[in-house]
Amino acid sequence: MTLTEKLLARAAGKASVQAGDNVWVKTDVLMTHDVCGPGTIGVFKREFGKTAKVWDKNRVVIIPDHYIFTADSKSNRNVDILREFVKEQGITYFYDVIDNPDGKWVFDSSKGLLNRQYGSHYAGVCHTALPQKGHTRPGEVLFGTDSHTCMAGAFNQFATGIGNTDAGFVMGTGKLLLKVPETMHFRLEGRLHPGVMAKDIILHCIGEIGFDGATYRTMQFDGPGVASLSMDDRMTVANMAIEAGGKNSIFEFDAKTEEYVNYRTKLNGTRSNYEPVTRDKDEKFVYELTVDLDTLEPTVACHPDPGQRKKAKDLSHVKLDRAYIGSCTGGKTSDFLEFARVLNGRRVSIDTFGVPATPEIVHDLQTSRWGEKTVWEILVDAGVQMTENAGCAACLGGPVDTFGRMNTPLKCISATNRNFPGRMGHKESQVFLASPITVAASAVAGRITDPREFLS
Ligand code: SF4
Repeated sequence: MTLTEKLLARAAGKASVQAGDNVWVKTDVLMTHDVCGPGTIGVFKREFGKTAKVWDKNRVVIIPDHYIFTADSKSNRNVDILREFVKEQGITYFYDVIDNPDGKWVFDSSKGLLNRQYGSHYAGVCHTALPQKGHTRPGEVLFGTDSHTCMAGAFNQFATGIGNTDAGFVMGTGKLLLKVPETMHFRLEGRLHPGVMAKDIILHCIGEIGFDGATYRTMQFDGPGVASLSMDDRMTVANMAIEAGGKNSIFEFDAKTEEYVNYRTKLNGTRSNYEPVTRDKDEKFVYELTVDLDTLEPTVACHPDPGQRKKAKDLSHVKLDRAYIGSCTGGKTSDFLEFARVLNGRRVSIDTFGVPATPEIVHDLQTSRWGEKTVWEILVDAGVQMTENAGCAACLGGPVDTFGRMNTPLKCISATNRNFPGRMGHKESQVFLASPITVAASAVAGRITDPREFLS
């Protein structure tokens, strides 16, 4: 069996499963957020009754993150619906925007979009917050009402996005009927060179198979090249499996996974026992690709989909209006550090927006010093509009007052993960997906630029 098959067999209480089997699996964690949470709660109440209780109040994790820093009253109300439900159910893990459990969330636009407007519990973008808050564990099953839930596959777990109807069912029962996906095998060899990041790995892979090339399949990443990738790197790769239509992605468990998970579960006092899945000798794959990390180059997915792969160096004719760094995929501390490496001592020549994925990342950037300045100060001095209001922001457009949203048809290079028309706002805008360091180089040059031009 492949890693995913072994994991699903265990979750289904079976000795073995194979691709195509339909199995009932037990859920270890169900995550929902402000966009899909209210709908999921509605389904749950409709199907299980107004007074029903969730199947396990310690396994439902609620993370508002999407439409938060907006004056849109319906978006604000969604967070209030989550808070009411958490109180009613006694749910343990709720990362509220405000500290008052009886309060109402109202974004104060008179304070502007840059300064922090959240309380001490707020955790930022769900997929980045889940591991930081100790909710990702090897060998487990994580369902989330968000397509990029697959990011947690970096931690050797089965993690996938589900709709509100399925999530409402999981909320009531802790179980879900799943078809076991076929597995595609991506063997990584070698190591990345300066100027090339994990984002380039996944853009390369999606370029090979197309934006529907992994539809309802697992993308399994392993091989000697994985050892040199940090957990942040693995998260970036796993996150974008859905951009090829993947059901999930999964990495092997190793010492880095163990160190991260043990540290985070201890730090947060979350469940710390887990059982990773390891590779069998008889794995059956429907597709195999070996990726030589040594030969990868800075890569861009051009408008209008994540499969439109080109090399950054071949796109220098593409002039840009905007650059954006942020999201679960590209707004982690390590992403901002690579971004800052190019911007240190330089200035951007186009509008450039920076949105850390979580408050912890804001703190990292505001406390990491490079010489006289913090990384945050370096970025601000370079002309980047940095917001402390960590969240999804313009990654998915959002209400018109969302920080960084494209309200006119612009060309933008972005460290986010999805570039279908309208994704970041205006339907006629064009989004080019790239690594944070390629975004930085392009922000300086005002055109798509290979970041190696800026590295000594
Ligand atoms: S940052 Fe973007 S991709 Fe990630 S959860 Fe938010 S909207 Fe989705």
